[in-house]
Amino acid sequence: MDQRATPTLSANPLLEDWDTPYGLPPFAAIRTEHFVPALRAAMQANRDELDAIAAQPAAPSFDNTVAAFDRCARQLARIESVFYNLTASHTSPELQAVQMEMAAPLSAHYSAVFMHAGLFRRIDALHARRDALGLTAEQRRLLERTHLDFVRSGAKLAPEAQARYAQVMERLAELTTQFGQNVLHDESSFQLVLRDEADLAGLPGFLRDAARQAASDRGLDAGWVITLSRSLIVPFLTFSERRDLREKAWRAWVGRGEHAGEHDNRKVAREILLLRSEQAALHGHACYADYALTDTMAGTRGAVHKLLDEVWPRALAALQRERAELQQVMREAAPGVAAQTIEAWDWRYWAEKVRQQRYALDDAQLKPYFALPQVVQAAFDCAGRLFGLSFTPREDLPVYHPDVKAYEVRNAAGAVVAVFLQDNFARASKRSGAWMSTLRLQSRNEPGGGSAMAVVLNNNNFARGAPGAPTLLSLEDARTLFHEFGHGLHGMLSDVTYERLSGTQVLKDFVELPSQLFEHWITEPEVLKRHARHWQTGEPIPDALIERMHAARRFNQGYETVRYCASAYTDMLVHSLPHERVPADLAAWEDEALRRLGLPGGVGMNHRLVHFQHLFAGSGYAAGYYVYLWAEVLDADGFEAFREAGSPFDARVAEALRRFVYASGNSLEPGAAYAAFRGRGPTVEPLLRKRGLLEPA
Ligand SMILES: [Zn+2]
Repeated sequence: MDQRATPTLSANPLLEDWDTPYGLPPFAAIRTEHFVPALRAAMQANRDELDAIAAQPAAPSFDNTVAAFDRCARQLARIESVFYNLTASHTSPELQAVQMEMAAPLSAHYSAVFMHAGLFRRIDALHARRDALGLTAEQRRLLERTHLDFVRSGAKLAPEAQARYAQVMERLAELTTQFGQNVLHDESSFQLVLRDEADLAGLPGFLRDAARQAASDRGLDAGWVITLSRSLIVPFLTFSERRDLREKAWRAWVGRGEHAGEHDNRKVAREILLLRSEQAALHGHACYADYALTDTMAGTRGAVHKLLDEVWPRALAALQRERAELQQVMREAAPGVAAQTIEAWDWRYWAEKVRQQRYALDDAQLKPYFALPQVVQAAFDCAGRLFGLSFTPREDLPVYHPDVKAYEVRNAAGAVVAVFLQDNFARASKRSGAWMSTLRLQSRNEPGGGSAMAVVLNNNNFARGAPGAPTLLSLEDARTLFHEFGHGLHGMLSDVTYERLSGTQVLKDFVELPSQLFEHWITEPEVLKRHARHWQTGEPIPDALIERMHAARRFNQGYETVRYCASAYTDMLVHSLPHERVPADLAAWEDEALRRLGLPGGVGMNHRLVHFQHLFAGSGYAAGYYVYLWAEVLDADGFEAFREAGSPFDARVAEALRRFVYASGNSLEPGAAYAAFRGRGPTVEPLLRKRGLLEPA
């Protein structure tokens, strides 16, 4: 991104045709100042499209109204996808300013779209006589889905209520943008500098290398740096013998978003909660969770709590068993010294000691077998064996950062079906976490006829290896790569007619099924023997190490499950508060909620509210953090289909999986899609078994 010249609108590459290979964005020509004029022009063009649909003299038909609406807004979507991908994975202060400037106008635009009275009248009329229209199953699904999108965005509200609703949504768009920028600020401004051998005590070679690289990325000539990137902070908490430094790093990590001043997320989150409860009230719901859950597989708060309540006591019992093991090892390590209390910054450290003792397994031992290029190849190979896809690197395709790798994706018949971009490394301009996004969605309903090929992106935040050495992943990192690649396959394998039903645009408690299911393959012995090879010797991972890895599979699952559930409960509870009970002090409310739940000390949670980006940096996962567990019921049960068939690559099961899960997008009702793949509905036992939660307390 180049800031030099101020372009004229006529020279704005965002508004021109992209005659690049596969119509990829011409990243090299795009500058920050192109976005505001391009977004404004594209919003106007979109409004013109909608006015034209509404003003047609012909009576509403599926094609002239519903399918026509599905063909709208391609230019706006194209510009927004470039914009949001850059703000997430390669931002700058200038781009952040544009993001703040455009948050409210974009929100106002979408309110205007879904409150377009003339357009909604036509859709509503068609919806009322949907049984008599002679629609195919996918057309029927599109009509119902589109109608629901309008209703859930306020199309049926009275005019005064609509005006207020649009205001609420605009303010929410600004606040959620601010929330995410505040977290990024805290993440990129913190660094724990390690200066000498005493500071490095306990850190294995891979972590020293990554910390050295992080220091040089941040312009330090000497020393080592631990940042709040998961690939650094988690191994640091796992291996550092310096309890004081672990505590310091831990406090910075869990304190993101919570400090007075410009970047304080406490006020931001509170205002978001107040506005969401008003949004829900305008729809006639008692709280935001009720509004959010009406459009999910779970459907109600009761169904979510039923699942969480089934898992929580079992997870607490497992946690107590794990704590006893940790204390045992602690006593053995320092006989005669009174055992310390295990604080939250100690848990991973002692858990690693237990893992090394009981299972003779440590992360540093596994890492040489998980060099990044091999893990990427493993993911590609699994996609090939399951779904017939192959991936060809294309170094000539335009990308937005030199770290991004581009691939052409072909099906079994050799036809190119998608483009895949993978951006694997952490950097200060990228938000934390890992995610899949798209630059274009698959569809066969393009303006002027024809089809669109998916362009899919994966972002990870791996700490880069030392110069001359490959980046070595932990097993957790490798799982994350497979997870995001599973989402990627949901986009790349999409095979539907209408864009609204394409790829990952499914109900939010179904969307984690393709991703979590794909994680299973990384630990399959057949996959490990082929791809987990020592980066120096090329030797495949020894059988004994695979066995120890599998034996340790359930270890520490109590800890992980408790931390996840604590965050999932707080999300549900905070979004169940009526307007007048949204607390003034969110941190104190959170402490109290965790006390009532019975969260034991020394454990912590996956995300505290003050930096819980799933909930507050957007609305997609608000009252929706439970979806990972919901989908895990499906993925654990779903993977058993391969076990029952006797092979992780059974062709018949893989084909059913492709057809009903990865390719069908939102064209099928999700419960029916799952049952069509599995031959029955899911059961919860495989999940409990997988996490080791079926053992007696
Ligand atoms: Zn995911």
